[in-house]
Parts: sequence; C-alpha cells; structure tokens
Amino acid sequence: MTQAKTTCPYCGVGCGVTATVEAGTLTAVEGDREHPANFGRLCVKGSALHETLGDQGRLTRPQVDGVDVSWETALRATAERINALRAEHGNQTVAAYLSGQLLTEDYYVANKLFKGFLGTPHLDTNSRLCMASAVAGYKRAFGADAVPCNYEDLEEAELIVLVGSNLAWNHPVLYQRIKVAKERNPLMRLVVIDPRVTDSCEIADLYLGVKPGTDAYLFNGLLAWMAQRRKLDSLYLERHTEGFDEALAAAKQTAGSIAEVAAACDIDPERLETFYYWFASQLHVVTLYSQGVNQSSSGTDKCNAIINCHLAGGKIGLPGAGPFSITGQPNAMGGREVGGLANQLAAHMDYQTPGALDLVSRFWATKSLTPTLPEAPGYKAVALFEAIERGEVKALWVMATNPAISLPDAARVRAALEKCPLVIVSECAAHTDLLPYADIVLPASGWSEKDGTVTNSERCISRQRGMLPPPGEARHDWWIIGEVAKRLGFGEAFNYAHPWEIFDEHARLSGFENAAAPGSPKRLFDISGLVGLGQDGYDALAPIQWPVTKTAPHGTARLFEDGEFATASGRAKLLAIHPQGPEQALSSAYPLRLNTGRIRDQWHTMTRTARAPRLMNHRAEPFMDVHPDDAHTAGVTDQGLAVLTAAKGEFRARVRVSNAQRRGEVFVPIHWTDCFTQQARSSVLIDSITDPLSGQPESKHGAVALAPL
Ligand code: SF4
Repeated sequence: MTQAKTTCPYCGVGCGVTATVEAGTLTAVEGDREHPANFGRLCVKGSALHETLGDQGRLTRPQVDGVDVSWETALRATAERINALRAEHGNQTVAAYLSGQLLTEDYYVANKLFKGFLGTPHLDTNSRLCMASAVAGYKRAFGADAVPCNYEDLEEAELIVLVGSNLAWNHPVLYQRIKVAKERNPLMRLVVIDPRVTDSCEIADLYLGVKPGTDAYLFNGLLAWMAQRRKLDSLYLERHTEGFDEALAAAKQTAGSIAEVAAACDIDPERLETFYYWFASQLHVVTLYSQGVNQSSSGTDKCNAIINCHLAGGKIGLPGAGPFSITGQPNAMGGREVGGLANQLAAHMDYQTPGALDLVSRFWATKSLTPTLPEAPGYKAVALFEAIERGEVKALWVMATNPAISLPDAARVRAALEKCPLVIVSECAAHTDLLPYADIVLPASGWSEKDGTVTNSERCISRQRGMLPPPGEARHDWWIIGEVAKRLGFGEAFNYAHPWEIFDEHARLSGFENAAAPGSPKRLFDISGLVGLGQDGYDALAPIQWPVTKTAPHGTARLFEDGEFATASGRAKLLAIHPQGPEQALSSAYPLRLNTGRIRDQWHTMTRTARAPRLMNHRAEPFMDVHPDDAHTAGVTDQGLAVLTAAKGEFRARVRVSNAQRRGEVFVPIHWTDCFTQQARSSVLIDSITDPLSGQPESKHGAVALAPL
C-alpha cells in the first residue's frame, strides 16, 4: 500500500487529497490534513474520487478519421494537417480551445506552441465561461489579475458578503470553513445576495433576494450610501486610489437613494439598509463572488462595483478584508498564469504590456522563426466559434473540455464544428458529445495519472500527483502537444522529458526581466523563487501562494498590504459604473428569466461524477425549479414533466415547484448532455451574448417560456 498527496480535480477551492493505492488500484481518498485549503476536509464529490476511476469508458487509442491508429500516425497526421492549413490559409486560421481542467504545465506548453511557434493568437479556454469578468475587473482596478485575499481571511472577517454564489453546493469546503468560523465567533455575520434561496442561506444572518442582474445597482447604492453617511476611508482613498469622484458621481446618478436601489433590485428597503450599515460599520469585510456576478453581459462592471466599495472603505489588504472572486474550476487560475486566455500573451502579460512581445519572443527564442509571435489578441471563446462558423478559423484543437455542450447557443456551436475542416480532440472519455465532430482523437491521461500543478482561488499552487498508469495508450497532454510540436519542426523548444522541466521554464519566464521600468510596473505574477527545484524539489513541492520570489521565498498570503498596486500610478482605480440589466430580453413569447448552474454532487458534463452511483442519488435526473405562481400560470405541476422553450431550443425535464425561486424565474442544472438524455441541455436555451470587456457569456440570464409536456 502507498499513499500520495495530490489535489482534488473539481472546484476552485483546490482541496488537498491523500490517496491510497493498493495493488495498482486507488482504493481510498481522504482530506489532506496539512493542505491549507481544506485541512483534512473534503466535500461529497471529493470524497468519492476513488469511485469515479477505472478504465471503463476511457479513450485508449488514438484515432484518425474514425480509425484506430498508432501514436506515430496520429501525431504525424495532426502536424501535417495543421501545417497544410497554415500553408494554404495562414497561421491565424489555426486555434485551440483549452480547459481549466488542464494542469498548468499542459497549459504552458499549449500556449507556447500556438502563440509562440504557430503564430496564432486564437487560443482561449473554457475558463472564459467561469471567471473572465473577475479577471477583467481586477485588471481595471488593480492593474493585474490578482486576487488579494486568502481563505484564512474568511475566518478572520467580521462580515462576509456572498454574492451570486451558492457556496454550500459549489465550493462546499469553503462554506464549511465559514460555518465553523461563525460557530467560533458568534459576532461574525454572513449576508447572502442571490435571486434564489439556496442552501448557503442556512447560516445567513441576512438574505437579499435581488432581481437577477441588479448587483451593480446594489453596490453603486452602497458606495453612494457610504459617502452620504461619511463612512468612507478618506485617507485610504487619498493615498492609494484614483477615480473616486467619477465613481461616486456615477453611483449617485444611478443609485442615489435606498428607495431607488430597493426598487431597482426588487428588495425590501429596510433589509437593504441593514446590509449597507453592516458593510460600512465593519473594517474586516470579505465580499465573495462567483458566477452569479461573472456570467453577465455586464459582469466586469459588477465586479468593479464591488471592488469600488472595498477601496472606498479601505477594506482591502488587511486580514479578513477584500473583494474575493472564487473560481469555478481547479486550474482556472493556473491557466491565467501562463497566458491561456486569448487576450493574454504569456506569464500574466497582455499584448499591450509594454515590451511584452519582445520579452516573450526573446525568452522563447522565436525571433529567428517565421512566424513570430502574433501582435494582437485572439478570439475569445464565443467569438472563436463564430470565426469557425464564418470559415475564418479552419483548424481547432480542443483539450479537456466539451464546447458542444457548455458554450451558449449549442446548436450553432455544433454547426460550426461540423463545417470546421480540422477538429482535433484530446480527451479522456470515450463517449462525449464532441467526439463525433473530431477528425483526430488523442486519448489523454486523467486525474490520478498525470503529474503537474494547479492554482486554486487563493493563488495557492499545489501539486497533482500521478499514482496510476494511464489506461491503454492514453498519454499526458503536455507530451501530446510536445510531440506534435516536434513533428511541426519545433523540436528543440519542446524537448521536455518531465513536467518539472516545464514548470521550471514557466517559473523562469514569470520572473524574466521583471524589474519595474518607467511607466511599466513590476509584474505581480512572479514565481521565480521556484526556479531550480529539480525533479526532487518539484515532487516534494508543498502548497505555496504566489508571488514566490527571492524577497518572498515562502509565498505571499495577501496582496496589496502596503497599498501599492500594479497600475502605472501604483494606485488602485475606482471605476464609474453605469448599471445595465441583462441583454437577453424577456418578451410575451419568452416571459421567464432563466438561471443556470451546478448542483451539489455533479461536475460539469458528468464524465467523472456520473460514474459514482452515490453522487447520482442527490439529483438523479435533470429538473427545473419553478415558483408556485409560475407553475400555476403555465399549468405545470410539481414532479410533472414540462418543457422550457427559448428562441433557439428546448429543455424537457421534471418540474420542482419551489418557493426558493423568485416569481418569474426558473433554474435549471447545466450537467446533463446528449450522452444521458437529448432533452435537457441547458446551453441550447442561452443566447451567445457576452460581456464586451471580458467576453464572458450571459449564462444566467436566458429568456424562456414554460409549458406542460
Ligand atoms: Fe474538491 Fe471542491 Fe469539494 Fe474541495 S470543495 S473536495 S476542491 S469539489
């Protein structure tokens, strides 16, 4: 029997897991008592990890045009077909669509190949659907995509504000930590702001059931209220920020009074004022936010409306204080670190970062190559599939994700994939809705088989460790990408024998020439303190929060403690926010607002979690949660079958009549795919409307009609 420490592959909490292997089988998991994310806790998904393994249902052979082939044939076909399309149509007709499930090392190699060596900026990720608005909000306010807080701040806070997040289901271990902290400190308060009454309300001291899409009114109103009641931290504003006057003017214009905000958000004015009073009266406030804020056509503005209030009150850079976005996926942040978003170049540098193109091309030694680095950002997820639809992008390599299910307007995505001349899919599962569109299928290793790192929501880099051999001929993603790169003629730059070498290169790039130049602040993402670990040091790497540098060799628990930000001026920026409602408009034909989300015991498209019978017990089938009045109006009954219709699709499932829903709103889960039922894909109900700044789809604001089946 052997035991290994690794990290859970599901949500952005990033819990440490101790796994037991006996006779070649992973027989048990328990929470890693030493991991700072969970200190031994696991939620129901994490504790069932060993029940989701096994070779059954795994992809084990490479395929080209539907025929099993050798790896050499598959790798050569991949390289030759990519090169043929580049030669005929240009470098920028080639694209990649990655995933927050990939390890940082996989992400790094993919980003280097596509942007550095294939000369195309069109590499984006499914993390676009999860945290792109939070990223854009941080960058506007702080000058860097940098989460200021850590999980201990949740225990040190006097007030936690949970916005657009059912933490109890989607980040359960964080919810457990808050619950225990509240039991220890009866003075700690929790405010839940969410259109739905969720399990997270169980320990809430105050619940605000806001109308969907009104978060920016709420926080603009808070800023105006704090100014009116002289609850601002004037010294902090003066020393460390800019843009306050403009932000306050916009807030007063749109949300100047309690009555105005209460009407816009459709909530009780007294409860609203209680929240404002609590927020303004405490210094140690953490605002936790997630997809309910991010998945909106104005998600970035909502994030900045929240950040504005923290800056105005000086509630940041302190224990138990700050705006804290919680990522959905295990490695959404690791992908951001290497440049895995289409608007990023590499190592947290954007295309417009002064000197970045030159720096990265020198580091990767791509200057002598044709092509060199692209000079402008690529297509973000939804725009990428629109470019495929137009015939502009002709080759797409999808890794560890399923855009045929998860992107909005799924029928349009499928039509685009159908006409794409070359679709390459790296995948673990043998049956997904994407595989029928693949010309080349590359079997990939999965959790418990692969080695690498992930970064969780609090900037903590942890090791995932391989304990089992991949089934059949499945291979690690970094190896597959590197072998294709060699056959494309870039062998020297992709000659990695082990993921520690990739991590080392990634760490070196993060610190490469990272000294502040005039008008160009030092890059915050810097892990140069982890250069030179070697394989032994990498294997032994304990969880550590970036930045990790010579001056911070043990990592950095909290950012901005000195009031110095990563903007050109060194000051944080408050933004003038002009709130907007959802773009997907309700009408007499589609009168109900659709909300989509996860359920407690499932993960994404259920390729893993559906393998554990006990995880199916929680919700065994797709459903729709409907308010009693809406059920009555539509003539549907509790447990009866019904259909939701949107402009581009239908969703059929059993009705759960629930007072937890606001009147006029419906909730459906995102998990079920055509592999389970062809009736209940939520993405067909969502239009491909995105936030213009972040590119994140408006997945929580569909417009639907309800009828009995
Ligand atoms: Fe895994 Fe998230 Fe559960 Fe932790 S809270 S065990 S990371 S799913």
